[in-house]
Amino acid sequence: MRACTLLVAIILSCVVPCLAGSRSVQKTLDQKEQQLEQLWAEYWRTQYAIDSGEQKDASVQPVRARINAVLLDDKFLRDLRNANFADPVLKRRRELFISDAVDARINGDADLVKLVESITKDESEMRYEIDSRKLTRAEINNILGHEPNRELREKAWKAQGQITAKTGKRIQQAMKMRLALARKYTAEPFTDFMLKRKGLERKELLNWFEEIRHETQPEYEDLLRRIQSGLKVDKVTPWDLEYFGSNLGHSEKAFEANKAWAQTQRIALDLGFNFTKLPVTVKITDITFGGATYPILFGREVRILVNKYEGLRFTDTLLHESGHALHYSFCREPSFLLCGDNPEPFDEGLGQVMALMLYRDDVLTKDFGLSSAAALEVQETYRLKSLYDLRGTMADSAFEFEAYENPDQDLVKLYANVQSRYLGVEVKDGSNWAYDPFYSSGPIYLQSYVVAEMVGRQIHAATTKRFGAKWDAKTGEYLRNNFFTRGGFYSVDEIMRRSTGESLTPRYLIQSLRPKPH
Ligand SMILES: [Zn+2]
Repeated sequence: MRACTLLVAIILSCVVPCLAGSRSVQKTLDQKEQQLEQLWAEYWRTQYAIDSGEQKDASVQPVRARINAVLLDDKFLRDLRNANFADPVLKRRRELFISDAVDARINGDADLVKLVESITKDESEMRYEIDSRKLTRAEINNILGHEPNRELREKAWKAQGQITAKTGKRIQQAMKMRLALARKYTAEPFTDFMLKRKGLERKELLNWFEEIRHETQPEYEDLLRRIQSGLKVDKVTPWDLEYFGSNLGHSEKAFEANKAWAQTQRIALDLGFNFTKLPVTVKITDITFGGATYPILFGREVRILVNKYEGLRFTDTLLHESGHALHYSFCREPSFLLCGDNPEPFDEGLGQVMALMLYRDDVLTKDFGLSSAAALEVQETYRLKSLYDLRGTMADSAFEFEAYENPDQDLVKLYANVQSRYLGVEVKDGSNWAYDPFYSSGPIYLQSYVVAEMVGRQIHAATTKRFGAKWDAKTGEYLRNNFFTRGGFYSVDEIMRRSTGESLTPRYLIQSLRPKPH
């Protein structure tokens, strides 16, 4: 009896203080997450004000410094690492907090944030000169997508290089700073550290790129032949690709920009998602990127910002952003970090779940009033456009991985080489590499758009398997419960396995790029 009591006393002498210690660590973690929630709300409100042009000269630097101060608390980080957590939710929150702290040391570095802000400011103020006209980014993109005059398209494509002359050197400098910071604070190279945070692994990712490229090669070559004969050109050039893919012919009328938000809301309502009852606002204006959705407060305040594009592309972008907005409105996780640190390719994939709605038979015929033949034309054009778009994104992403191997190399030459390899057309001049805004402000993000296509297609396939071709509020409920409510508790692969029964795979994406059987 005594021995037993003694034993219990010995055990208690450790367990009780350990548990008490863990409880106090948990309490601090709760408090810190609440602080982070408020600070990130301020961060996103500021970023929104800058991006939308409401407060061009605002800065996220002060609030980022306050976020860093909450994360970079050495004593707490030590206690957190040593805390004895049994609960899987607490364990996951710890993992995310520690990863965010390392990220704060790298991407939150004050000098780096300042440099990036100076670049993005120049990007948003940039006007591209063609024949003494000064054009915005949106205008350049509209020329590339819709201008029948090939010479003008060539000028627009070449004008993209003007931004590299302005920001290229500073982007290279930012790349070098990221590499140096990663060397100092992690055991892995910057690229791998970033991929890991998103639940991705470089080798597997590049295998997916190769599988997608290889498996769709016959279709892509067919597309290049069609462009050649459709545009009556000897040789397809980079400024023909986007134009051919955006030219919808007669069906384009159905996708008017001023109706796009109403149509987006109707498509969502078919699934039982009522935007008039969600905390989401939408603003359409000139910005330096396609669109963005700001998770100011999960479930309480979400803002969409979209560039002024024309035609189908605009409706597609708006639907994609509405997918993010649903995700941020519906996220149902037990703590802020579990929503805030959702896996990026999954979040982008939910954008695609909504964007892909646009190309479904019943949506094109019922919501847009197209005939079956016109619907088929839109679907086929989208398939061809995706073949090209996907290669463009894979090229930009592969270029970025290679650029980080040595940012001092000749990036103009590297960009031309990688673009030629993926696009299958000769790109002589890569001096427009900095036109892709992700290299400055969204490092190692582009691959997530490729994975998002895989996620979107896989979710659509699983949903169709379950509900057939007609989707309604019951389908929406399934999508909401299995996907839109999920944050960062599981990895993207784990979410796919649990809800579709299969690991994340490029198979459904590849299938969708094959011609539709008649
Ligand atoms: Zn997105």
